[in-house]
Amino acid sequence: MRFQGIAASPGIGVGPVHVIIPEDHAVKDFPIAADRVEAEIAFFESALQASRRDLEQIRHGIAHELGEQEATIYDAQMMMVDDPDLRRAVHESIRGRRNAGVSFRDYMTAVAARLERVQDEYLRERRSDILDVERRVLRHLMGDTRQGLSGLEAPAVIVAHEIGPSDVALLDRRRVLGFVAEVGGRTSHSAIVARGRGIPAVVAVRGVMQHVKNGDLGIVDGFRGEFELNPDAAASGRYRARRARVDTGTQALAALRDLPAVTPDGFKVDLAANIELPAEVEGVLEVGADGIGLFRTEFFYLDRAELPGEDEQYRAYRAVAERMSPRPVIFRTMDLGGDKVASYLGTTHETNPFLGYRGIRFALSHPEVFRAQIRAIYRASAHGRVRMMFPMISSLEELRAALDLCGRARAELDRAGSAYDRDLEVGLMIETPSAVWVADLLAREARFLSIGTNDLIQYTLAMDRDNQRMSHLYEPLSPAVLRSLRHTVHSGHQAQRWVGVCGEMAGDPRHAILLLGLGVDELSVSCFDLPRVKAALRSVPVLKARALAERALACDHAEAVRALLHAELDTVLPDYLLGDGDEA
Ligand code: PEP
Ligand code: MG
Repeated sequence: MRFQGIAASPGIGVGPVHVIIPEDHAVKDFPIAADRVEAEIAFFESALQASRRDLEQIRHGIAHELGEQEATIYDAQMMMVDDPDLRRAVHESIRGRRNAGVSFRDYMTAVAARLERVQDEYLRERRSDILDVERRVLRHLMGDTRQGLSGLEAPAVIVAHEIGPSDVALLDRRRVLGFVAEVGGRTSHSAIVARGRGIPAVVAVRGVMQHVKNGDLGIVDGFRGEFELNPDAAASGRYRARRARVDTGTQALAALRDLPAVTPDGFKVDLAANIELPAEVEGVLEVGADGIGLFRTEFFYLDRAELPGEDEQYRAYRAVAERMSPRPVIFRTMDLGGDKVASYLGTTHETNPFLGYRGIRFALSHPEVFRAQIRAIYRASAHGRVRMMFPMISSLEELRAALDLCGRARAELDRAGSAYDRDLEVGLMIETPSAVWVADLLAREARFLSIGTNDLIQYTLAMDRDNQRMSHLYEPLSPAVLRSLRHTVHSGHQAQRWVGVCGEMAGDPRHAILLLGLGVDELSVSCFDLPRVKAALRSVPVLKARALAERALACDHAEAVRALLHAELDTVLPDYLLGDGDEA
């Protein structure tokens, strides 16, 4: 049986399926024997106590690091755990011989449904707290089913309704052959982390959970966005043949490793890599990148019980800077919020998280936490070629506030006698339409601009990058996006600043040529995409790329740009970049 989804991370993975069941679905309705009733009530009480301890710990951490205000949402959650009505109802249900899991889940479902109907906005928002509490207590009642993600016993293809970015960061690379999720988009951070870690993935596979069970055979085709369940012999043979073709292309690309990213007419492009975890630095060296153009440092902050300290960050950043030296490394400061949330940061529960408390907004409202990171980055700069940039800037005031914190961090380091690069380049990401339109002002006060197309596309087109229903409309080639790119490059160059692109768009060989033609100076892409982009850059003269970009800008819709790129490039790009649906 074949399912079609979105190709999220390239590669082909074959193996037995391991299904991840969300806690609330995994609750089984079985009766309790009369002599087990009291023990079941005690079991339920111990799960409540354990949940309360979790919440106290999280609350303590947040109050300490971020202040009392942020911690109050956990007070509300603790009140829910302590609610005498909850206890009474669940005890009564257990005495009626239903098990603790079902009794508790049904009570919480009824409370959530009641809130759904109320008019009061504040109370309606409490619904997500109820879900949070429900999940936490069920996890204690049933054991943490998600632990299966990091502790798989044998190699498997993971199938789940949803896999968060920090879950993907935790996957055991040796055991996970690939993953399939029912939701998500190509530029969701789960997909990005999977690409960084070389895990084949297909997302937005609607309804797949209804059909799979543990032990089925699954094939994840992360090139075409297909998932094949229990394939027959013919289908298995097809995938084996495709895997062999992919391997041949990979060998051809490996030969480019030590060659520069230079066009046939001698134009050198800085071709850097994106990483999410310090361990990925070895992969960056293997593909022969000119540097790291985007280190998403926020992964440091996810999936842990408390904030990382300055020294811990310094050691990690220093190791990366040293390993890459003399090549540059751009540390993007914490970009938390959106789909990257850590419960101890208090970034959860927003109606529009991508338009909310995210990126630089979060960082600026926690200046102590932000400054500790900035200091760690400056300190690492004594050991390599370090640059720093800020995410999600939408105004000059935000940039100035962030630069001001850099000034204070430097003064603190001076007082402490710590060494750092006094000429460290500080830049910013252009990810919002407002930043595009004030790029000239921003470029005057920063040393470089790096365009984050993943966000810029979603904000320019008002298309959620995570929403699988919108994915066909999330269009890098739309005239609105191309004009934004051109305007940004022009504004940066007017101010004598270099301009890079570090969103996923730069990783597509044809799009990379278009970006070259638009005047972009640096491209930063995943390690998988890097050799392909290098092969493309080495095949197309910059003069041709510029002429192509002019024609692309004159097109009035995206499909025309796509047709133009195919017509002009498919005859010049190497065959293995064009292969049958194997494009990244
Ligand atoms: C982007 O938005 O293009 C980007 C590179 O940042 P992120 O994907 O982490 O939001
Ligand atoms: Mg972004």
